[in-house]
Amino acid sequence: MVIDKNSERVIIAGGGPVGLFAAVRLSRFGIPVALIEAAEMVNTDIRASTIHPPTLDMMEPYGISARAVDGGMPARQWQIRMHTTGEKAVFDMGCIADVTDYPFRLQFEQSKLCAIMGEMLAADPLVQMYYGTKIEAFEQDDESVTIFADQNGERVALTGRFLIGADGATSSVREHLDLSFEGSMYPERTVLVTTTFPFHEHLDDISNVSYCWDTDGNFSLLRLPDRWRVSLYFPEGLSPEEALDDKHLEARLQSICASSQAFNITDKRVYRVHQRIVERYDHGRVVLAGDAAHINSPTGGMGMNGGLHDAHNLTEKIDKIWHEGGDLSLLALYSRQRKPIAEREIMLQADRNRKRMTEKDPEKRRASLLQLQKTTSDAEKHRAYLMKSSMYDGLAAATAIT
Ligand SMILES: Cc1cc2nc3c(=O)[nH]c(=O)nc-3n(C[C@H](O)[C@H](O)[C@H](O)COP(=O)(O)OP(=O)(O)OC[C@H]3O[C@@H](n4cnc5c(N)ncnc54)[C@H](O)[C@@H]3O)c2cc1C
Repeated sequence: MVIDKNSERVIIAGGGPVGLFAAVRLSRFGIPVALIEAAEMVNTDIRASTIHPPTLDMMEPYGISARAVDGGMPARQWQIRMHTTGEKAVFDMGCIADVTDYPFRLQFEQSKLCAIMGEMLAADPLVQMYYGTKIEAFEQDDESVTIFADQNGERVALTGRFLIGADGATSSVREHLDLSFEGSMYPERTVLVTTTFPFHEHLDDISNVSYCWDTDGNFSLLRLPDRWRVSLYFPEGLSPEEALDDKHLEARLQSICASSQAFNITDKRVYRVHQRIVERYDHGRVVLAGDAAHINSPTGGMGMNGGLHDAHNLTEKIDKIWHEGGDLSLLALYSRQRKPIAEREIMLQADRNRKRMTEKDPEKRRASLLQLQKTTSDAEKHRAYLMKSSMYDGLAAATAIT
């Protein structure tokens, strides 16, 4: 067994976007980090692609936002659309240009964001990366936390002052804390298809982020620099194999936009989506962040963003403890500030977005669309809607909690 008892560091479980951003921040505060990632390399999952303006504000000081903007596709407007008629409500991110240098929803894959941060951390002398290392257990006392992990069959024990559980929805850290992850699973299967088909050349006035009602279902279209991501939703009865079947996907894509040629699909994945949250995030010297603490419907693109906001808030608290003599009550404050935001701003909004888009009754859809169009035609309401959906309101509400 490899034992490292140097406790002058923070241990981070999980090299997804949340763990990586926490490591970037801690290192910038001068705090050593050991980042433990079960996979052999930086997380390559493509799940998230929407980055909201406040997240770009937060990542700016580290040069991450500039690189993401360089490689991504800004959506300066986004829309909710009746696909059959082309009627729509269009939200203009320019309405919040006074609060950010990034008045757009950036479309940039989670995997690329992780690659940027992974590269920065690999060159960082304050950060030790342990790939291929899976945390299995930990113990904590008044001074430190020791994790026990499996590194390619070898047992590793590492000690640190804190453990951040950023190890995603199936978190081992959460499991070891024996916490329940209350909530439920949505009935539909979400299939994420990436294609080189240029929807923008075929669908009139489509925005780079478009949520669409279709005859008897819904889908969303998100534009990346050289391709589009289409989120399709299939009933529970369909098996993952059936949902991913090429003929089935081709027929669904043809129903969205008829094309004389077959769609060139470059990636397809199927997900089950849950809405869950833990009771509290701080447990002594062990703290949860991101999907390990809360998960939600992806409609509105808030899960990863919310996790990055957790990392931002939590690392600020750890810095205060590390350098200014703060105590563990700061970790409790982190939990008090971030958990209600996950519940009220992220999960609730995401659930409402999903409900609105899964509505099938034409009358109710029309009423929703009219309401949204009313909002976009009133300058004050339009701005208020965007401050909320872009996650600024949640951040302000968290700061107000003492
Ligand atoms: C279809 C879909 C689309 C989405 N789109 C968006 C979007 O546009 N915008 C948005 O904000 N969010 C979106 N999300 C949500 C987003 O993907 C997640 O919120 C985000 O990945 C959470 O990041 P994380 O770092 O907390 O966890 P993860 O990304 O899950 O990373 C956790 C990491 O921990 C590692 N790990 C797990 N167990 C261990 C262990 N025991 N030891 C060591 N390492 C471990 C894993 O290998 C993984 O690398 C979407 C989700 C889905 C399903």
